[in-house]
Amino acid sequence: MSNTIQEKTARYIVNTYPRAPFALVQGQGMTVTDSDGKQYLDFGAGISVNALGHADPEIIAAVTEQIAQVSHVCNLYHSAPQADLAEMLCTLSFADKVYFANSGTEAVEAAIKFSRKYARTTYGPGKTEIVAFTGAFHGRTAGALALTPREKFQAPFRPLMPDVRFAPFNDVEAARRMIGPETCAVFVEPVQGEGGIYAATPDFLESLREACDRFGALLVFDEIQCGMGRTGWLWAYEHFAVEPDMMTVAKALGGGLPIGVTLVTEAVAEVMQLGDHGSTFAGGPVVCRAAEVVLKRVSDPGFLAHVRDMGVLLMERLEELHSPHIQEVRGLGLMVGVELDIEVAPLIQAGFEHGVLMLNAGTKVLRLLPPLIVEASHIDRFVNTLDQILSETPA
Ligand code: PLP
Repeated sequence: MSNTIQEKTARYIVNTYPRAPFALVQGQGMTVTDSDGKQYLDFGAGISVNALGHADPEIIAAVTEQIAQVSHVCNLYHSAPQADLAEMLCTLSFADKVYFANSGTEAVEAAIKFSRKYARTTYGPGKTEIVAFTGAFHGRTAGALALTPREKFQAPFRPLMPDVRFAPFNDVEAARRMIGPETCAVFVEPVQGEGGIYAATPDFLESLREACDRFGALLVFDEIQCGMGRTGWLWAYEHFAVEPDMMTVAKALGGGLPIGVTLVTEAVAEVMQLGDHGSTFAGGPVVCRAAEVVLKRVSDPGFLAHVRDMGVLLMERLEELHSPHIQEVRGLGLMVGVELDIEVAPLIQAGFEHGVLMLNAGTKVLRLLPPLIVEASHIDRFVNTLDQILSETPA
């Protein structure tokens, strides 16, 4: 990569990301290209974003048409793309209404505020506790960070938002003990992403639903990573047959443009009044037109069947690998984790040399989140490359 990109980045950008040693300049379908012209097979999708791959013609057309018409409509005015996307999201989910934000963490912040306001309006003050789970990742802004129990992320920024308690993920009894009259909401990822690709058990989500109903707490599903078709269902909660009161969605929805959405039931929507929350850019027309394209394509039953088929194939092929380092292959749909007994950072680095992009989840899990348009031939190529990388790794 040209030194100037690396140098400028180091010189002018706050150093909060560990970056690969190259700059990406182009994308097409399953492939991205760096500034030296080297191509990579993308099994990270920009952390679960590019569901339709790169440079999708329909997204390009929708965005181009909209930006030429009007690029920004703030929320002091009505806007057709926003209204159309809201209708689509409600029609395709449990939700009655939506609140637009610009990112995943913002969608979580909105859900935190809605939970507190709902409890206060419905039951009076004092019902402020939020229950979240070990291994969770809900974002980096102040409220979302308080629900993300990673010492490394939280420690420098204490004191955090109070009244948050953590229970062990997938432990039905512990969660039941922790949810009580003071709980206003329970936040959970139906499939944990950053935490290592762990799916909730149906029992666990059912017991959370029961406990929330019993104590008048809201059940909030964070589907920022696992939603939008990633698991082979449009929403991961459909797989578990448990419905939330609120759900956060982001990442893949915008087709590469930033968006976050908090989906809510009518009962939650009713407590929010004029001026209770807001954002200048949220629900802008360009990203909403892109999101309509993604949602229409991803919600198609044929598309979702393809995701399930490719997910099964990817898991099968990974299970055939003979590396002694592989401890477990797990996941749902095209959200797949390969747990190893060694650190995965060098494997990801080796992937760069071999022309594949992979992600980590923690230090020992390879996280694979290919664009949902992945085909069997890409999976073959990817698994063969991973096999080669593992065979070059000392035992
Ligand atoms: N929640 C989950 C489950 C996520 O995976 C992420 C991002 O990785 C977030 C929230 C935060 O989203 P964003 O990075 O768009 O703020």
